Amino acid sequence: PVILAIESSCDDTSAAVMAGGEILSNVVATQQVHEQYGGVVPELASRAHQQHLIPVVQEALRRAKVTKSDLDAVAFTQGPGLLGSLLVGSMFAKTFALALDKPLIAVNHMRAHILAHFIRAPRPQFPFLCLTVSGGHTQLVIVRSALDMEVIGQTIDDAAGEAFDKTAKLLGLPYPGGPHLDKQAKLGNPTRFPFPVGAMPGYDFSFSGLKTAVMYFLRQQTAQNPNFIQENLADLCASIQHTIILTLLRQFTRAAQDHGLTQLALAGGVAANSGLRAALTQLGEERGWEIFIPDFEFCTDNAGMVAMTAHFQFEAGAFADQLSSPDPRLKLT
Ligand code: ATP
Ligand code: FE
Repeated sequence: PVILAIESSCDDTSAAVMAGGEILSNVVATQQVHEQYGGVVPELASRAHQQHLIPVVQEALRRAKVTKSDLDAVAFTQGPGLLGSLLVGSMFAKTFALALDKPLIAVNHMRAHILAHFIRAPRPQFPFLCLTVSGGHTQLVIVRSALDMEVIGQTIDDAAGEAFDKTAKLLGLPYPGGPHLDKQAKLGNPTRFPFPVGAMPGYDFSFSGLKTAVMYFLRQQTAQNPNFIQENLADLCASIQHTIILTLLRQFTRAAQDHGLTQLALAGGVAANSGLRAALTQLGEERGWEIFIPDFEFCTDNAGMVAMTAHFQFEAGAFADQLSSPDPRLKLT
């Protein structure tokens, strides 16, 4: 099937075209407007989606060399995400499908992050264990098939991306802080400042303790030396990143062992973190586990992953009707 997919859950407007499971185009317009506010402003995100969506769709069709009449289905992100943002994408997709008289496919954004692994080789085989680390979620998921997934652990407070962004903010780095912290961490000593590793029962995660510990530590140190952060920035970044990686990999490792899974996959925007990629790759080598990390293009929000998920749903006959509406808190299962 030829599928047009729309992603508009947060602050990236994206459209992709997929034919028979092959990605033909994946266009993303990232919204710059939020940087000056140090976080995503929902109202501004909705407006920017409204402005970007039609040009992005036209560009996706053009790059794919596909016309509207070639389409077999229109897919959109139903949730989770910001309601206003989701409304823009879902209304567009529903109207477009109605006008073309084509079926509609509603996609769960967190399933899409995971199924991004199937866009390009190497692809994991079912079942595998996926750690999704994004701006709003941290989830450990057993993926039994494209449609059968089980969340076995998740964060009880901040997401991994938030842990990066909030601690980066305490260090005075620009928003979103994750990539800046990553860059600085490469120059620093990861064991210089020992911060607490969030220890949770089962396979859950917690990052709020780290944020608080960093906040009190910086307050105490800068009271004695106002230049403490500037003088120790690389070591601070390396130590924070190291702590986040330890927190993530401890649960990931235990879940893999307990469930006898030897294929481990990483998904979501934080999968771009160079320290996490390196640590997981090394873990795989030590244990003889196969590690899968998608191309960066398919880790952050993109419609390609929505198209991939929609492809599996099309094959299974899982269509949505015109009455379906966005769900900001849509659960993975
Ligand atoms: P969700 O999918 O949960 O709704 P999202 O789609 O907004 O959230 P993503 O786009 O997947 O989130 O990821 C964005 C997050 O990834 C941000 O918190 C950002 O700081 C973080 N991030 C991106 N690159 C890096 C990096 N190199 N190191 C650490 N964090 C990073
Ligand atoms: Fe996302």
